[in-house]
Amino acid sequence: MRVYNFAAGPSTLPLEVLKKAQAEFLDFAGTGMSVTEISHRDKAYEAVVKEAEALTRELLNVPDDYAVIFVQGGASTQFAAIPLNLMHNGVADYIVTGNFAKKAWQEGQIYGVANKIGDSSDKTYTYIPDVDKLSYTEGADYVHITTNNTIFGSRYSKFPKCAAPLVADMSSEIFSREVNVADFGVIYAGAQKNLAPAGVTIVIAKRSLIENPLKICPTMLKWKVQDENGSLYNTPPAFSIYMANLVLNNLKAKGGVKAMREQNDYKAKLLYDFIDNSKLYKNNVVPEFRSVMNVPFVTGSEELDAKFVAEAKKAGLVSLKGHRIVGGMRASIYNAMPVEGVKALIEFMKKFEKENA
Ligand SMILES: *Cc1c(COP(=O)(O)O)cnc(C)c1O
Repeated sequence: MRVYNFAAGPSTLPLEVLKKAQAEFLDFAGTGMSVTEISHRDKAYEAVVKEAEALTRELLNVPDDYAVIFVQGGASTQFAAIPLNLMHNGVADYIVTGNFAKKAWQEGQIYGVANKIGDSSDKTYTYIPDVDKLSYTEGADYVHITTNNTIFGSRYSKFPKCAAPLVADMSSEIFSREVNVADFGVIYAGAQKNLAPAGVTIVIAKRSLIENPLKICPTMLKWKVQDENGSLYNTPPAFSIYMANLVLNNLKAKGGVKAMREQNDYKAKLLYDFIDNSKLYKNNVVPEFRSVMNVPFVTGSEELDAKFVAEAKKAGLVSLKGHRIVGGMRASIYNAMPVEGVKALIEFMKKFEKENA
């Protein structure tokens, strides 16, 4: 039986996509081979990478002077690739709004001066600092933000307007809401939250910014090299890109990012409204900054939290345990989580509250 999977990543994928992948697994595009067996230089496979790039451009309205590449190593490898491609003056600004934002900042310190110009750890990352009131460093090579904080369940309601290029980790929300790509220098996202299985990371970068990576930048981390080679400089994560392409086709068929955002807003509102009106459950994030993708909540009792997670699992609602550094529960309700999944969760929460009042 298929369950409702609320995992933060790797996470649920659209059922139609899984079925399509299953149906064509033994014979990809009439080649008589699985997509996992075919050469990445085969025309049939190259077409997949090209289509995934084209769909990304179309769905996010990516300007032509931006590169769209698919690379390996997860978002975490990009924490190093960012300074290695961009840190010409040796200084960058970081806004630390969660665990991954902190890791990106720490990685930046290896390569130069990484100024922490904003930090919401004083209130356990339950808000985003006012980006209009931060002191951006003059001459900084870039400003790094994490637009959606997967673990703490917060997100930016507006983005910094700064002189330096904005570099954004959108791992846990890419394709979930409209963004104006031209407002960013670089957008990157590990695929395993909202796009595909683990193994591929998408990078969207303004070409004029990536012309001159630092001398010490490994070839594999040079965005320019990946761009010039159409993401086929070396063997790509072929299956993950193939799956990403199926998901992007599915997203387009469902009406694109706007339609998805409307559904995401609806799902999140259902869940937050229920939590805010219940006596048992609590979400501590400042409402303006609540994530539409990751919804953490607690009962106030660790024992009850554990019972909740165990009983939910028995009811077919799985992976609801919160991240180890936050505790409690977390429902990740990415694009692929159907409205029915959120409604089933709310029904379970009602029942659990009644039984444990
Ligand atoms: C999951 C996640 C990461 C880490 O991704 P990996 O692909 O495991 O390296 C980084 N940033 C954010 C916002 C994430 O949610």
